[in-house]
Amino acid sequence: MTIREELAAAMFPDITRTPEEYEALYPPRSLPEGARVTRIAPSPTGYLHLGVFFTALVNRLTADASKGVFYFRLEDTDKKREVEGGAEDILRGFNEYGLAIDEGFVAPGEVRGGYGPYQQSLRGEIYRTYVKRLVEEGKAYPCFCSEEQRQADREKQEERKLRTGYYGEFAHCRLLPEEEALSRVKAGEAFVVRLRSSGSEERRIKFDDMIKGTIEMPENDEDIVLLKSDGIPTYHFAHAVDDHLMRTTHVIRGDEWISSVPKHLELFRVLGFKPPKYAHVSPIMKEEAGGRRKLSKRKDPEAAMRFYTEQGYPADSVVEYLMTIASSEFEEWRRRNPDQPRGTFPFNLKKMSVSGALFDMDKLDDVSKNVISRMDAAQVTGAVREWARRFDPEFSALLERDPAYAEAIFTIDRGGKKPRKDIARWSDAKTYAAYFYDELYVPSMAEAPEQLAAEDINAVLDAYPSVYRPEEDQQQWFASIKALCPSLGFCPEVKEYKAHPEGWKGHAGDVSTVLRLAVTGRRNTPDLCSIMRLLGTEKVRQRLRQARRG
Ligand code: GLU
Ligand code: ZN
Repeated sequence: MTIREELAAAMFPDITRTPEEYEALYPPRSLPEGARVTRIAPSPTGYLHLGVFFTALVNRLTADASKGVFYFRLEDTDKKREVEGGAEDILRGFNEYGLAIDEGFVAPGEVRGGYGPYQQSLRGEIYRTYVKRLVEEGKAYPCFCSEEQRQADREKQEERKLRTGYYGEFAHCRLLPEEEALSRVKAGEAFVVRLRSSGSEERRIKFDDMIKGTIEMPENDEDIVLLKSDGIPTYHFAHAVDDHLMRTTHVIRGDEWISSVPKHLELFRVLGFKPPKYAHVSPIMKEEAGGRRKLSKRKDPEAAMRFYTEQGYPADSVVEYLMTIASSEFEEWRRRNPDQPRGTFPFNLKKMSVSGALFDMDKLDDVSKNVISRMDAAQVTGAVREWARRFDPEFSALLERDPAYAEAIFTIDRGGKKPRKDIARWSDAKTYAAYFYDELYVPSMAEAPEQLAAEDINAVLDAYPSVYRPEEDQQQWFASIKALCPSLGFCPEVKEYKAHPEGWKGHAGDVSTVLRLAVTGRRNTPDLCSIMRLLGTEKVRQRLRQARRG
C-alpha cells in the first residue's frame, strides 16, 4: 500500500466499494439520440417557491422537447435548515400544479427509478467512495484547520484586501506531509476533506451557458471542501457525483450558481466525469416603484406557489402563464395550437430571457380568464366547489346546499364562440355568482340610467311582472320588454330613440337595464333572461318590489 492509500483507508475505514462498482451500477442511460436528462434538486428548507417551480418547469420542458427524462432529487444534506414536511410540501405542489416527474421522488413518499437513492442523505457511502479515491490519487486531502484558524485567515485576507477562501499560502494542510496527516487521522483528530485544486487565478476558463451564452471566468484555485467533518458532502461535490451518476445531461438551475461553475468544472475533470451542459435561469423579477427587483421569498406573498392556490388560480392558468415567461414564442404557439398539451411545445433554452422576466399579475389574470372561459360548466363548478371547500367555508356552504343550482349558474353564457371572461380565479367566482344567493346579493340601483326619475323606474318595476313569462326564450323575452315599452313612455327601438329622443323617457335598453339592476344589483351581467329563469319567478318579483324607490 502506498502512503496515500494508507491515508485514504484510515480516513474511510468503512468504505469497501470502488467508484468502478458505482459506475457499473448506474450505467449510461439507454435513451434515443439527443434525449436530455434534466432534474430539479430542491432542498427541503421551506414551502414551494415560485422560482423553484419555474426552474422545474423549464427542466420539464427541456426534457419533453427532446423526449428525455426529468427527475426529482432531494438535496437534504443541511439538516439545520431543513423544515419538517418541506419535501412533501414541494412534491405536493408539483403534483397539484400538474408538473409531472418521471423519476426520483414523484409524489410525497413515492420514489421511482433505477438511479437512486434520490435523496442525498442516503448517498453518504457513494460520496465517500469517490472522495476516498481522490485521496488515493493525491487529488484531495484531509484538512485539520480549526474554525479559529480559518477565522484568523479570513481576517488577514480582508485586511490585505485579498479574496477570502482556502488557497495559496492560506491552504495550510495542502503541504502537510502524508505521514503526518495519517498519524493525525489515526489519532482521531477531526478533519474535513479538501480538493487539491490545480487551478490558477491567472488562467481563465470559458464555457457555454445555454441561456446566458459564452461566459469567461478565472479558474478555480480554491481547495474547496468536499466533505465536511461529519462526512456530509458540500453542494459542489454532491452536484458533481450525483449529476454524473444519475446521468444528467443538462443542469438547469438558478443563476445564483453561475459563479460556482469553475469549481464544478474542475470537480468534473478531477473525478474523470464528462461535465453536463449548464443553463442558468435568471430570477423572476417584480416591478416596484418604477424599478425592478427580484421576487423576494420574505416580502412577496406571490413568491410562494401556495399564494396562487389560495387565491384560486387554476393550476393550468399558472402554468400557462409561466410558459409565457419561459418562452416569448409560447403565446403565438398557443394561439395556433389551442388544445395541444404543453409538452409538445418546441421549447428552446437558448431563447430564454437573459435578464430575468417580469412577473405581471394582470397578465396572469388575462391568461387565467382565457383558461377558465374554455372550461365547461361542470369543470368550473367542480373547481369552484373544491376551492371553496378549502378556502371559503361561507361560500362553500352555499354551493353545497344545491350543487345543481351552482352548476346552472356557471352554465349561463358558457360555451359559444365568444365566451365571457369574468373570472380569473375562484375567489372571483364568488363575486360573479353573488346575486344568485340572497346571502351574498348586494342590492343597488345606483347605476340606473341618469335621465330616469324615481317614478319612471318604479313604473317599469311595477309593470314588468305582468308580462314576464319564464318559459320565453331570450328573443321572446326581449320582445315582451319591447312590447311593454310604449305604455311606459319608452321607445321600443334603440335606433329610433337615438334619432328622435324627444318625447320618450328612454328606450328598451334602458328598461332592461332597470330590470337588470333590480334583479342583480349590477349593470353588467351574463344573459338576464337566463338569470331570471334560474332565480325563479318568485325571487324575480320580490327583487323588483324591493328595488322600488321612495
Ligand atoms: N439544492 C440546490 C438548490 O436548491 C440545487 C441547485 C441545483 O439545481 O443544482 O439551490
Ligand atoms: Zn487545513
